[in-house]
Amino acid sequence: MNLSKTRVVIVGAGQAGGRAAEALRAAGHSGPITLVGEEAHLPYERPQLSKAILLDGEPNPAFIRSSGDWAGLGVTLSTSSRVVAADIDRREIGLKDGRTFAFDQLLLATGTRPRRMAELEGTALPVSYLRCMDDALALRSALQPGRKVVLVGGGVIGFEVASAAVARGCDVVVLEKAEAVLPQIGSPSLSRYAQALHAAKGVKIMCGITIKRAAATGIELDDGTVVPADMALVGIGVEASVDLAQQLGLETRHGIKVSTSGATAIDGVHAAGDVAEQWSRCHDRWMRLENWANAQNQAIATAKNIAGEATIYDAPPWFWSDQYGANIQIVGHPGGGDEIVRGDVANGRFTTLSIRDGEVVGGIAVNSARDMSVLRRLVASRRTVRRTHLENPQFELKRSLAS
Ligand code: FAD
Ligand code: NAP
Repeated sequence: MNLSKTRVVIVGAGQAGGRAAEALRAAGHSGPITLVGEEAHLPYERPQLSKAILLDGEPNPAFIRSSGDWAGLGVTLSTSSRVVAADIDRREIGLKDGRTFAFDQLLLATGTRPRRMAELEGTALPVSYLRCMDDALALRSALQPGRKVVLVGGGVIGFEVASAAVARGCDVVVLEKAEAVLPQIGSPSLSRYAQALHAAKGVKIMCGITIKRAAATGIELDDGTVVPADMALVGIGVEASVDLAQQLGLETRHGIKVSTSGATAIDGVHAAGDVAEQWSRCHDRWMRLENWANAQNQAIATAKNIAGEATIYDAPPWFWSDQYGANIQIVGHPGGGDEIVRGDVANGRFTTLSIRDGEVVGGIAVNSARDMSVLRRLVASRRTVRRTHLENPQFELKRSLAS
């Protein structure tokens, strides 16, 4: 293959798409690179949407590169461009506006979109979602002092927005259908901690609820309770944007299945970021990893493979969340084994380790960033650990890396 002529088309100009384009050039790819995204904005990273942009005096969005820098890198960036067709026989994608781009290698970095809540749609209650820059800017204007804000979903969006809404003087209620908040993380200690942290800031948390509909003055639950609301922000998870992958004939039950090199089942078609489903050793199943580190590192590894530099990507999942200045970091699968807690949950400084068959398969560090650097190495190394050591508060965590 003559790499200087290889045309790479990347669909999805988000974090994974943008980082892949950069990494292709860094790996020496000299052929044409086209980066196509439906948003009007230049590629950007999303963590700011539920944090800095909601909090800062003036919204100051940060972009991965300026348009001049993309041009300087020799990347043809096409924003406000929705791709609606993908044809593997013609090796071509088609845009809504009728344009087409031919490819030799295609990278699908189409990410995810928010799961919608049918029960609240089409009513007088203002209901919104938070996925893109425009959503964040609109939400920022809506979070006015004294407004009754109901956050549907006690997950990461719900809690990060709760933190911002409290800072902006809103009255906040979180409605979660599971019996504890942050259920998807699977750590009873973290759920307890987060619940107490938010309650201490005046947030009302209701778990085990089912939403029936929007009522004139708020949200009605199936037991008849009406939760007063001026607005609702729904954060009940996401679904993968797999329409194009389906057109290509790829299997797409939860996402686009990829190998450790980012390859799909079709030669020359790759996927990376939130849309890609990969094997997680920590979870012992195929899954999509919906976090910044994965969008970055899987995209870079996949780009290197496209450029001919064989690279394996199988890092354990890792992400963080900031709430009221508390730093929460999560690695691997904290709910994947028996939980050992070090430190004091009530004081808001603790570390958990999840042990399965003698291995640490996940953990959490709350306001303990130093422990997280050890935890990440422990999970990645797959070494066997002595449970009695980890349960001993006097035992220094980093010594477990030496055993
Ligand atoms: P996306 O960011 O979803 O980008 C995909 C892009 O593809 C989108 O711009 C979309 O419009 C475009 N697209 C889709 N289909 C098409 C099409 N047919 N044609 C053209 N374009 C298309 N992770 C952390 O680890 N820590 C955090 O603190 C954190 N905070 C977050 C806060 C918020 C509010 C959100 C929403 C996410 C946060 N994340 C965080 C998760 C992280 O941002 C995502 O994992 C990451 O954005 C995934 O990147 P991606 O490029 O795969 O997908
Ligand atoms: P999430 O973290 O999966 O949390 C969704 C929450 O909503 C879960 O607790 C879920 O409970 C609950 N839920 C589901 N259906 C519900 C219903 N009908 N009524 C009430 N609660 C319901 O998803 P998210 O918070 O919406 O986040 C969306 C995306 O943004 C994810 O990809 C996430 O990774 C990303 N994000 C990441 C960060 C970060 O990493 N710091 C910050 C913000 C956003 P069950 O699990 O029981 O269904």
